Amino acid sequence: MTSGAAPRIGVLAVQGDVREHLAALTELGATAVTVRRPEEVERIDGLVIPGGESTVIDKLLRAFGLQTLLRERISAGMPVYGSCAGMILLADRIADARPDQQTLGGLDITVRRNAFGRQVDSFEQQLDFAGFDSPVHAVFIRAPWVEQTGPTVEVLARVGEGPAAGRIVAVRQGNLMATSFHPEVGSDRRIHAEFVTITSNAKESV
Ligand code: GLN
Repeated sequence: MTSGAAPRIGVLAVQGDVREHLAALTELGATAVTVRRPEEVERIDGLVIPGGESTVIDKLLRAFGLQTLLRERISAGMPVYGSCAGMILLADRIADARPDQQTLGGLDITVRRNAFGRQVDSFEQQLDFAGFDSPVHAVFIRAPWVEQTGPTVEVLARVGEGPAAGRIVAVRQGNLMATSFHPEVGSDRRIHAEFVTITSNAKESV
């Protein structure tokens, strides 16, 4: 890739919420492409792992021969942003995983799947987000939360009110960022913009 060109950001398109992420990234001037095949993974500067069902995405990653390659690119520093199921796939550790469930890992966190419980399957809340001067409108859908973070993980947002107040729902560690919620829903593009910046900076420094 020539330096200065728009970053090429893939959206993992094996299952889940792909279209909205492509639209958000395109709106921000990135070259947004779907990623399903190993050769597509080779050609991207950064990757979004969308919400969906983490157990299904995990199985398909293995079936499509993507798991090892993605793990290699993550350890080599490729920026990845995971939303909801994507956060689970980036986590080094899962609480309440299916017995055979694996992750790509990279983020030194423990996530709890479906953490908010059945009664609050889906909800929305205004959240303070590190570095933003006004709250983000966060949409949670059968979301995980972050139960434990390693020493180099930066907490970007916590639940502000209600029974889950204080729970961590957005984190960053180097080029990896994850949110429990779905910023692709709605028109606030600040979180995607943050990820486009992370990817552009990583690309410049290669
Ligand atoms: N509960 C789902 C899982 O465990 C995540 C839900 C979502 O991505 N909206 O993968």
